[in-house]
Amino acid sequence: MHDLILLKLGEIVLKGLNRKAFEQKLMGNIRRRLLGLGKFKVSCMQSTIYVEPESGDADLDAAFEALQDVFGIVKISRAAACEKDSDAIAKLAIRYLADDMRRAKSFKVESKRSDKSFPMTSIELSQYVGGELQEAYPNCTVDVHEPELVVHIEIRDLAAYVHAQPVNGAGGMPVGSNGTAVTLLSGGIDSPVSSYMIAKRGVRLIPVHFFSFPYTSQQAKDKVVELARILTRYCGKMTIEVVPFTHIQEEIRDKCPEEYFTLIMRRFMMRIAERIANEWNAKAIVTGENLGQVASQTMEAMASTQAVIDLPVLQPLIGMDKEEIVQLSRKIGTFDTSILPYEDCCTVFTPRHPRTRPKVNEVAAAESVLDVEALVEEAFRGIERITVEHE
Ligand code: ATP
Ligand code: MG
Repeated sequence: MHDLILLKLGEIVLKGLNRKAFEQKLMGNIRRRLLGLGKFKVSCMQSTIYVEPESGDADLDAAFEALQDVFGIVKISRAAACEKDSDAIAKLAIRYLADDMRRAKSFKVESKRSDKSFPMTSIELSQYVGGELQEAYPNCTVDVHEPELVVHIEIRDLAAYVHAQPVNGAGGMPVGSNGTAVTLLSGGIDSPVSSYMIAKRGVRLIPVHFFSFPYTSQQAKDKVVELARILTRYCGKMTIEVVPFTHIQEEIRDKCPEEYFTLIMRRFMMRIAERIANEWNAKAIVTGENLGQVASQTMEAMASTQAVIDLPVLQPLIGMDKEEIVQLSRKIGTFDTSILPYEDCCTVFTPRHPRTRPKVNEVAAAESVLDVEALVEEAFRGIERITVEHE
């Protein structure tokens, strides 16, 4: 008999349609996230996923931590096991829930039996264990209507389980249940956060990074790889597409009017991202753009960069304040890496007076001196792929 972890599913349950497929996807993601932590059995019953150690070296503490990063789970609790005997269950509850019972002012017990041969009904068992708990912790009173603490007991095939207080899961939907998107990943604070937010909606991500060596350094590239690696905690294994961008930037610098540099550069990024998306059957492009943050993030500027592609551009940070973005980046663990001081290709050849309210046809005209197709093709052919996974 051993302890286990119980996971409450989030929006999957509400989804109705495709629920089985969602559950399967989530269980696959859970199994992958537990790799390296020992052998676990993962099973699903009535919207609850059970994670049980199957070998002595299975690290339940580490699994409990790891599962808090998996999208599609709203609540996570640990449960302790004992033999299916009412006295053993009451003793276990008194010991295992000591901290919770001391902290709470009121409680109730809820029991569930999947093993119907257990001699007490669920109500009888709840009453019995509730009485024993009440005696052990007289300062915590029974309140069946609005208890602070709900003590869960479950009688299953092999054992009885007492649940601890749940902690919050990562929420969202299982990665891979909502299609694939390309995410533009720079080394900044914003794009790891936008990637995280879209992954949370169940989208598998293909990170794309534009690299302008030697204007941007190897360290700048390593930083992006590290950011993607941090994101694998939530997204699972990913392949970063590193696009050589130097020639395109030099062509723009040499041949186009300075005030349009950034906008033309961003149009190239979009075109290349769309080609990569088509290769992966991805249906959208994700960016960390934020309304009004810089000259290229006005509505007019974004219209001119999005005009060159057909796929939708998802901008989950569009209406957020910088402080909110920073908070989220700290929470997901990318902030400290994002603030390492390496330059990005967007800051190379920055115009002194960028156009903030460009007309789409002005930008197109400024760009028309370039052989756009050939440049896109050349960059596309030079792509380097780097696979990252959670250690
Ligand atoms: P970030 O903090 O994500 O770098 P930013 O505030 O610096 O964003 P911009 O430099 O205008 O804003 O970039 C806007 C978005 O374009 C980024 O959030 C990112 O999605 C994408 N982007 C910018 N530079 C690159 C790059 N070198 N490679 C891939 N995507 C990029
Ligand atoms: Mg940036």
